[in-house]
Amino acid sequence: MRLPSPVRIREVGPRDGFQNEPEIIPTDDKVRLIDLLARTGVPRLEVTSFVRPDVIPQLADGPEVLRRIDVPDDVAVTVLIPNERGLDNALALREHFQEINCFLSASESHNRANVNRSIEESLSGLERVIGRAVQEGLRAEGVISVSFGCPYEGRVEPEAVFGIAERLVAAGAAEIGFGDTTGMANPLQVREFFVEARAILGDEVELTGHFHNTRGQGLANVLAALESDCASFEASFGELGGCPVPAGATGNIATEDLVSMLHEMRVQTGIDLDRLLEASAAVREVLGRPLGSHTLVAGPVDWHA
Ligand code: ZN
Repeated sequence: MRLPSPVRIREVGPRDGFQNEPEIIPTDDKVRLIDLLARTGVPRLEVTSFVRPDVIPQLADGPEVLRRIDVPDDVAVTVLIPNERGLDNALALREHFQEINCFLSASESHNRANVNRSIEESLSGLERVIGRAVQEGLRAEGVISVSFGCPYEGRVEPEAVFGIAERLVAAGAAEIGFGDTTGMANPLQVREFFVEARAILGDEVELTGHFHNTRGQGLANVLAALESDCASFEASFGELGGCPVPAGATGNIATEDLVSMLHEMRVQTGIDLDRLLEASAAVREVLGRPLGSHTLVAGPVDWHA
C-alpha cells in the first residue's frame, strides 16, 4: 500500500481548540503557545478568528494575537473569517496572515444552529468573502462542517456536500476542508467519500480532512482518507477543541497522535514530534487539566528501548 507523502498538516488548536475553552486564556499565553507551535515545522497554523467578540469572547483578542505572534516566514498563518465584516476587520492586519478559512455546514439545521442562516445565505456571503480575499492575494479554504453526518438531521448526502464544495471552488477557494464535526464518520464512508470528492472536484483543489475523535475513530478515518489519496489534514495540539453538540464530545484529533502515526508509517510531515509535544505540554500547563492526547501521555514510540 502506497500512502501519500509528504502530508500537509494545519494546526488549528489556537482557534478551534481555544475557542471551546470555558476560561479565557491570557493573550500572553496564547502568543507564547502559538510561537512554540510555529517552531515545530508545521507548515500551516490557524491562529484566531474574526468573529464578533460578543459571540466568542475567548477570541476577542484576535487582532492583538495576530500583531504579537512571531511566526517564521515558511509557516502560513490562517485566520477564520465568518463574514464580510470579519474580512474587513482582518484586512486591517493584512500583512500578518496569508490564508483565510471560512465555513458553513452541509445541513440546513446545523447551519441554522451555528450561524442562523440558510445554506444558500451562507454560500452567497462566503462567495463574496472568498472573492475579495483572493483579490487581496490571500489563499482561501472553505470548510464544510458536518460533511459526514449531522447531529440534527442524521445522514448527509455526499452529493449535497460536493455541490457546496463546487460553489466554494468556483468562488476561488484553493482548498476544501471536510469536517466530521461531531465524529459520526467511519473509515469505509471516508474512503469512498474522498474518492468521489476527488473525481468531482478535480486535481487542482486541495482536499483536507478535519476529523474529530468524538467516538474514538479520528485516526482510523485519517488512514481511510490517506488510502484515498487525501494528503492534507487539520488537527489540534493536545486534542483541544470540540463542539458544543453533542454535550461532552471530545475534540479534534490530537496533532501529536496524527504526527506519530504518520511518521511510524513513513509518511513525512516536516514536523518535529518532540517540539510539538513540548507545545502540547505547555498548553496542558496553561489549562491546568489532563488533555485527550495519547502521545502526550505515552511519549513517542521508542524502538530502541
Ligand atoms: Zn474541529
